[in-house]
Amino acid sequence: MATERPTAGDADAVHTVTLQIGESGEPIRIALPTGTIAPEGVLPALQTIADEVVRRGIAAARDRGRPISCTAGCAACCRHLAVISDVEARALAGLVDRMPEPRRSLLRARFASAAQRMAAAGLAAPALAIAALSAAQLRALADGYFRQHIDCPFLEDERCSIYDERPLVCRRMLVTSPAEFCADPHDSRVRALRLPKLAAATLLLTSDEDPPQPAAVPLPLALDWVQANAATVPPRGADQWMLRFVQRLADTEA
Ligand code: SF4
Repeated sequence: MATERPTAGDADAVHTVTLQIGESGEPIRIALPTGTIAPEGVLPALQTIADEVVRRGIAAARDRGRPISCTAGCAACCRHLAVISDVEARALAGLVDRMPEPRRSLLRARFASAAQRMAAAGLAAPALAIAALSAAQLRALADGYFRQHIDCPFLEDERCSIYDERPLVCRRMLVTSPAEFCADPHDSRVRALRLPKLAAATLLLTSDEDPPQPAAVPLPLALDWVQANAATVPPRGADQWMLRFVQRLADTEA
């Protein structure tokens, strides 16, 4: 990771960082804010990295003769249980808080409905403990959730209503297999696009533990989770957050 500092007196309070993600390809240049920031402040940079990584992944798949089969209006993956980082949960809760009425109330009602349905199906408790589940328990949770046919609260007319703000895990939901295979969450014929594990690294971003522990939040429970979990992570320099991210990504890939 290389940093280019702004010149003295630069009114744009940003600087440029160059990152090498993966072993090949051009380094990715991103702008980071100067000064100390909450972890949510580094999310736009992580989203930029994810979008560039995905763009390259799509191009490489196309060059191999395996184009992406996902199309606008196909939202099968938006009825799987998406797991996001604590940082993204706080960012999404803030996004909903800033929405004008009546949209804010509509979104909150959708989240409440999803949470209620998960609780009624006995899925909320295991979902909140997802980082500690065994592979068999994870599979049971994923199956149980998919069977409930719970729409993501942000899904509207089979499209993501917060497309530019969507979590990193949503950005990598791309397949090269026929779209109809996605109707079964365990269909072995589904061929997901292989990409660096950026979303997994973000789950570890705020952990000071050694080894880092994932802070994994089920997306439909994000508003409740944020309300129940006050932010305790101290602000850090944007460079420090980015360095952590790169280290967590390297650990995750290893
Ligand atoms: S945030 Fe958007 S892309 Fe992600 S699951 Fe929800 S509707 Fe789908």
